[in-house]
Amino acid sequence: ATEMPDLQSYWMPFTGNRYFKQNPRLITSAKGMHCYTHDGRELIDAVAGLWCCNAGHCHPKIVEAIKAQAETLDYSMAFQLSHPTVFDLANKVTAMAPEGIDYAFFVNSGSEAVDTALKMALAYHRIRGDASRTRLIGRERGYHGVGFGGISVGGISPNRKMFGTMLPGVDHLPHTHNLSENAYSRGLPKWGAHLADDLENIVALHDASTIAAVIVEPVAGSTGVLLPPDGYLQRLRDICDKHGILLIFDEVITAFGRLGDNFASSRFGVTPDLITTAKGLTSGTVPMGAVLAKSEIYDTFMTGPEGAIEFFHGYTYSGHPLAAAAGCATLDVYKEEGLIERARSMEGKLEDALHSLKGEPHVIDVRNIGMIGAVELEPIAGQPTARAMQVFRDCYDKGVIIRTTGDIIAFSPPLIVADEHIEKMIETVRSSLRALN
Ligand code: PMP
Repeated sequence: ATEMPDLQSYWMPFTGNRYFKQNPRLITSAKGMHCYTHDGRELIDAVAGLWCCNAGHCHPKIVEAIKAQAETLDYSMAFQLSHPTVFDLANKVTAMAPEGIDYAFFVNSGSEAVDTALKMALAYHRIRGDASRTRLIGRERGYHGVGFGGISVGGISPNRKMFGTMLPGVDHLPHTHNLSENAYSRGLPKWGAHLADDLENIVALHDASTIAAVIVEPVAGSTGVLLPPDGYLQRLRDICDKHGILLIFDEVITAFGRLGDNFASSRFGVTPDLITTAKGLTSGTVPMGAVLAKSEIYDTFMTGPEGAIEFFHGYTYSGHPLAAAAGCATLDVYKEEGLIERARSMEGKLEDALHSLKGEPHVIDVRNIGMIGAVELEPIAGQPTARAMQVFRDCYDKGVIIRTTGDIIAFSPPLIVADEHIEKMIETVRSSLRALN
């Protein structure tokens, strides 16, 4: 156990959030599937940090790569001057991407990836002389980070209301989650590619030629693991193609094996025009995100408007050497250890385990794909997060870290997860559910 100062005063300068203030808990080290607390407890990490540590914590190969890079080159800009590691990473990541997605633009987070992708989409139309395409369409219950672009297209209205002025001309598609039809379903919901017709309705409401882009998470993660109905993403693709609208998949969670494939795009067989990603790109080690784009869009954006030589987009830490080294090592680990195939092959085990929870107290739905799953609880009237938070606390005390969002319990273990971890995760949640009053 690590000797810690009195927690009440220790956490004063960095207060965490409301929840942390009430329940100060510190993770002091982590390895593989486990996190260790300041008071010496071992916990199974059932959510891979925040859906990011896909290769498991402190993977020795990734740690070594970061160390070696830190000793060799601490910093280089990535644009006017550059360094080889960022090119290595761009080659590796685009080689994994769906055909036609050939370029990578590196950023530092999912939020920056989203804002960059929205700018790329708007700039693409404008630079090509189509300046009237300024509308953006997101989806209710979509989560796209906390930048102004991301909250504007995001479907969580409290995140918008607080700040008044958002990006103009944003509409939100209705979300596709229909609990009564979805409850306990296995696989993708079968009830609704036609839900994508809502996009046609929005298009009909405006002039189609005013719409620049549609952004969706192929599987919504943070708002509760909402699976796209069968055929839904393809229908979005078709409608976008018909009207010259760009399609952006926000794959900050769904990429790099999370769905048992390189990207959700490959899992669902639907290729967007732009992909935003982060998290699993460096397995949660050094912050990094990326926008992956079709060459025409990327080139147009990077060239900028004719004559406007001062146009620029990029970050000081775009393609940072440490992040790029972490990314290269992470993608190598996925390949060498077959972790993405492993995630696919473990999918059935996680699915069976999750579905064994149906019938437990207050469980109203179970959903899963790849190495991601959710158990939805019936909320207590007027206390929409109370039950799941109680499960979270009880699981923590029993040695498992889960994630809650509203009254939904989410699972997204590192892709190295083994049978015994799945069993421990699920049996712990089962016992916590039974302990609910
Ligand atoms: N998009 C999606 C789909 C996400 O899940 C997240 C983070 N959970 C983000 C964007 C924002 O990423 P970040 O927190 O790295 O800014």
